Amino acid sequence: MQIFRHIQPLRSFLEAKRQQKLVTGLVPTMGSLHAGHLSLVNHSKKQDDLTICSIYVNPLQFNNKEDLKNYPRMPEQDQALLEKTGCDALFMPDDSELYGPYEPIRFDFGNLDAVMEGKFRPGHFSGVAMVVSKFLNIVQPTRAYFGQKDWQQVVIIRHLVNQLKFNTEIHTLPIVRDSDGLALSSRNTRLNAELRKSSPVFYEALVHARELLAASMPVARVKEEITRFVNARPHARLEYFEVADSENLFLLDNVEEAECPILCIAGYIGDVRLIDNMFY
Ligand code: AMP
Repeated sequence: MQIFRHIQPLRSFLEAKRQQKLVTGLVPTMGSLHAGHLSLVNHSKKQDDLTICSIYVNPLQFNNKEDLKNYPRMPEQDQALLEKTGCDALFMPDDSELYGPYEPIRFDFGNLDAVMEGKFRPGHFSGVAMVVSKFLNIVQPTRAYFGQKDWQQVVIIRHLVNQLKFNTEIHTLPIVRDSDGLALSSRNTRLNAELRKSSPVFYEALVHARELLAASMPVARVKEEITRFVNARPHARLEYFEVADSENLFLLDNVEEAECPILCIAGYIGDVRLIDNMFY
């Protein structure tokens, strides 16, 4: 696996590959890789001639300084895991390589980032859009892979690609979970044994909510029930539970209002913030 820390050598490497008409796949990550990330890499390995993974903890998408400081970083382990998948290239730029001294562009996604993660993490999706735009521009991949785990991010990136006419197909892959339902996340490494015990509560809440909605309970009542359900678990605190139209992220009062509703949840276990979602 070739490792690139600078844009120019990566561009030259990719230019040579494009002349050979090789189809490229990009998997953007913030590192501390787990089986969820690796499922994206493996998928690209199967579909594309050349797989590029990026690891960059993007300061612009952290609205909370402590979260950025505490975000797990394990570059050696990540490189070893990627080598095993057969990933062809790893792009690991530093902040000055990507941003330099310039003021970054700000994006406004209207309704798409006025709710859920966008509401509780102001500026988050503008930061995501900035860094994803840079990566798509630098790598110009045929396909880029994102996890359903961050569904709102998927919707916003599809919109970004559509509006800016990036020549990249966006592919989304299912959430990889631990055996007790906890969605894999780099932040899970911050859960001690005690906190880990409580952490499947968000997955359990989604399953519970889906049952209540299927039994025709209105969303407002399901929200009350889910708030009780999560907050009753030691160390757990609900930040939001929403039912949205998965296409445009309009919040629903009733699952019948959308063709394909999605249930989204976020909250804290101790001081670790986790998110999860499930299609209805
Ligand atoms: P991150 O490193 O958290 O920015 O994630 C990088 C990519 O991996 C994003 O597209 C995430 O949605 C995806 N991802 C994170 N966790 C999972 C998971 N448990 N299952 C599938 N994909 C995931």
